[in-house]
Amino acid sequence: MTWDLVIKNGTVIDPAQNLHAKRDIAIAGGKIRAVEEYVSDGDAHDVLEADGLIVTPGLVDLHVHVWWGVAHLAVEADPSSLYRGVTTAIDAGSAGANTIAGFHRYVMQKVDTRVLAFLHISGMGQLDSEIGELEDVRWARVEKAVEAARMFPEVIVGIKVRLSEAILGNNDLVAMDRALEASSQLGKPLMIHIGGTINPVERYLEQLRPGDIVTHSFTGNPPGIVDNTGKVIDAARDAMNRGVNFDVGHGAGSFSFDVAEKCAADGFGPGTVSSDVHRYNIRGPVFDLLTTLSKYLYLGFSLDQVIAFATQRPASAIGMANTIGSLRVGADADVSIIRLLEGNFELTDARGATRNGKQLLVPVDTVRNGRRYPPHHSAHPHLVGHHHGH
Ligand SMILES: [Zn+2]
Repeated sequence: MTWDLVIKNGTVIDPAQNLHAKRDIAIAGGKIRAVEEYVSDGDAHDVLEADGLIVTPGLVDLHVHVWWGVAHLAVEADPSSLYRGVTTAIDAGSAGANTIAGFHRYVMQKVDTRVLAFLHISGMGQLDSEIGELEDVRWARVEKAVEAARMFPEVIVGIKVRLSEAILGNNDLVAMDRALEASSQLGKPLMIHIGGTINPVERYLEQLRPGDIVTHSFTGNPPGIVDNTGKVIDAARDAMNRGVNFDVGHGAGSFSFDVAEKCAADGFGPGTVSSDVHRYNIRGPVFDLLTTLSKYLYLGFSLDQVIAFATQRPASAIGMANTIGSLRVGADADVSIIRLLEGNFELTDARGATRNGKQLLVPVDTVRNGRRYPPHHSAHPHLVGHHHGH
């Protein structure tokens, strides 16, 4: 058999298949063709030696901003995602009904990263850094959002709304109602952004349905999901128990080690870990999804759990577990090849607090549809000044 690419001798971690073992992977025609203890590379066009490396399904980042040139905070998709281990990047509200057609044509159809999106309930999406997208709540039109989402059913995975007072004043409850209505008409999840809201988080959580998503779950910008005694509030636990997904969405202001540590100590881990990478955090403290995942290694989650947070879990969260997030034979050949560095790495949260991590995950190569996208290592500023062995 002639393969386009064989990935040899890697430690394959694929939580969707309960797989953590040394395996060879054969790729042809842009698909995974074999995952076996031994695959001959005699006739392979290309061989990627992965001895000592971790091989996972192409990572899925549930919260990014890649409507470059339109959304004020957006970065370009391929440099920020594909070259850093992420094969599926889900834009969280950069585009709304007024701008989704352009996002689809000029980004989704042009870049090599698989870009999907939560459509913002505000027609303008996240256009401007100073004028909030729902200061004028007329921008939240259920009919327009539903109509736009139905034009692009393969790429719109849900609806987004940001509930912070700075973004929508006191329009939070009406915006939430409209976002819930659009999402239920579409039969797709709602992603809400918390932190800096007028109302306590309980007010929003109680309205969420199974499958809905909270992003910025571990924000240090109150009100949050931890009470004054450092315990997770009942409303968050109730929501998680009925199937609401608590996502990280690190961002420039929305991940606190202090909050995440209290939650972990109280047995409340994330459902998914996403980066919320954008232009105000890509040079730190976020850098990329793998750096964000490294923070969960620091917090005591196992490597297998951490990989699940960025493969199987987000794929399930958007109803695509049969398509992405696993290395099943027949799946699209989306693969991340990762090095786990051991050493001392200063990890910084969105509030400037630091922790001394002993492990750092970094991209070595990424395969999307069978094609390789090796990272530009010089563009990984996190490693500057750190000395590490290979
Ligand atoms: Zn965001």
